[in-house]
Amino acid sequence: MTTPTIELKPSASPLAAAEREAILANPGFGRHFTDHMVTIKWTEGRGWHDGQLVPYAPIPLDPATNVLHYAQEIFEGLKAYRQPDGSVALFRPDQNAKRFQRSAKRLAMPELPVETFVEACDALVRQDMDWVPAHGGEESLYLRPFMIATEVGLGVKPANEYLFIVIASPAGAYFPGGVRPVSIWVSEDRVRAVPGGMGDAKTGGNYAASLLAQAEAAAKGCDQVCYLDAVEHRWVEELGGMNLYFVYGNKIITPTLTGSILEGVTRDSLLAVARDLGYESEEGRVSVEQWQRDSENGTLTEVFACGTAAVITPVGTVKRARAEWKQSGGEPGEVTLRLRQALLDLQRGTAEDKHGWMYKI
Ligand code: PMP
Repeated sequence: MTTPTIELKPSASPLAAAEREAILANPGFGRHFTDHMVTIKWTEGRGWHDGQLVPYAPIPLDPATNVLHYAQEIFEGLKAYRQPDGSVALFRPDQNAKRFQRSAKRLAMPELPVETFVEACDALVRQDMDWVPAHGGEESLYLRPFMIATEVGLGVKPANEYLFIVIASPAGAYFPGGVRPVSIWVSEDRVRAVPGGMGDAKTGGNYAASLLAQAEAAAKGCDQVCYLDAVEHRWVEELGGMNLYFVYGNKIITPTLTGSILEGVTRDSLLAVARDLGYESEEGRVSVEQWQRDSENGTLTEVFACGTAAVITPVGTVKRARAEWKQSGGEPGEVTLRLRQALLDLQRGTAEDKHGWMYKI
């Protein structure tokens, strides 16, 4: 099926430069949106059509719109980074496009071609280029592509109409005061995803399911929840919005993809970046008992979480039902910080892009 190129219908009244600059001085996360959005429709029998770049605006929805009832929705998250020469680049947008296709398949939605996904991101960033923060810091422009079922009606079935949208939001540095380890609550009763479920899809339902566990973690004084597998409640899976890595001296290990873990682009990139830096990297199973034991006996030297939002976050305190321990003395580890810097350098264009991961706008 052919896909339309995106028709440009830019805003006649974008935000004044002074107001935009005031936002960029303190963007926070997900609070402000750029002047435009890209929308593409899909209709049964017709395929993808009406690709447009239009002013950012609310989308009117009939109260009986399918997505509002049965959550047929998927999304992505990726960032545009200002490069030293003033240009802008995306980090591995093809990987987000492919994950978006896998999520679509799992939710019985149409798969947007990879080129169209990238074209939509490109068109939005090109139009709203002035919203990409300056080179030098850890700020970026966060892109949020998503797709919803727009058929009107209360039947539970795959919809016959969908809307794909990309919006963008400037994102401040995740750790404005310097990298700070997070504390983790290991949940041994609540699970995020089950075998045969949709844990490896990026769909709103997975995040709705995580909110209560996240509130419980906060009540225990922890920043994030770590989920275990849903069958044995033993094997470490991931955090609510980040993958995990365990550092054993010179080797880094991340939980094997089981179908209930989201395949993070950062996770995948680190398997390669670690090797570039001379570390060993592999996928494997890590149990919560092993985590506790090896932290306590010192063989597990560091643990970190990774994802688009924070790049790499060291894990400090870990709590579970009847135990609590400090990982790496509660300080960011050396391997963690080195990998973090290496990935930041790649994304910000100050290191050689030997894997061809940067997509120039
Ligand atoms: N796991 C979950 C559940 C997430 O929501 C995310 C963020 N997309 C990640 C892991 C990390 O993925 P990525 O590196 O692609 O941001």
